[in-house]
Amino acid sequence: MYTETNKGFTIITNFGCDQHCKYCITRAHPILKNQITDESKIDWEYLEKCISETTAPTVNLSGGGDPFFQWEKHLDFYNRVYEIAKKYEKQLDVHTRILPSDELISKFRKVGLTVEYWNEKQFNTLKDRVEKGILLLTKIRVIEVVGTDFTEDICKNYIKKIKGIGIPQITFRQMFGNKKAYEYWNELSQKISGEGILFLKDGEYHNYYFTTENKVFPYFFGYSEKDREEWKKKYEELEQSCA
Ligand code: SF4
Repeated sequence: MYTETNKGFTIITNFGCDQHCKYCITRAHPILKNQITDESKIDWEYLEKCISETTAPTVNLSGGGDPFFQWEKHLDFYNRVYEIAKKYEKQLDVHTRILPSDELISKFRKVGLTVEYWNEKQFNTLKDRVEKGILLLTKIRVIEVVGTDFTEDICKNYIKKIKGIGIPQITFRQMFGNKKAYEYWNELSQKISGEGILFLKDGEYHNYYFTTENKVFPYFFGYSEKDREEWKKKYEELEQSCA
């Protein structure tokens, strides 16, 4: 488990996304600036150097968009990252909403899979893949980002439903840039607990290699706590205009 003082290493891709979340963290992002990852422009030599130097035992893929969006088009990218990680005895993790082929998923030690409580289609896809043996290929931790609509009853039912299909680990993540949801998470975290249940406070737990910039940032929103706070406020304003 990474912390703010013992950080993991994350590669940020932006291969796109078709989810249209209301509070998309990617859309107004100051580093991504809506740029899409161009695989031909990745500085593989520098990325390998960064992977070789991180003390983290895992390399994580995340977005900007979904790292598995149109995954069939990016197999060379995943294979190359996998080979580099293996060379330095690191394992791969990924944060996604998408479950790709068994062959690809088996390259990953662990999948942090966002499954919104209302998304029956996605839940059924996960259930189907569990029945077909995906947990023999990788570990899955299901993630729900806590909004104010996620009541205590919904939360309890969600835990029951996810655990009922054989997923033992569930994370409830504090939402960034939505003040009400941010505070509501505190309330909910006091009421719910259990084996495998983690309430993850919003924070900076990784160093981020942005593939669109070929640079490492110590914060998802830049270089300092000040950058982060500034963007948190900006996202709160975006949320108000969305509503
Ligand atoms: S899944 Fe992520 S990138 Fe896609 S719309 Fe939602 S917040 Fe934005």
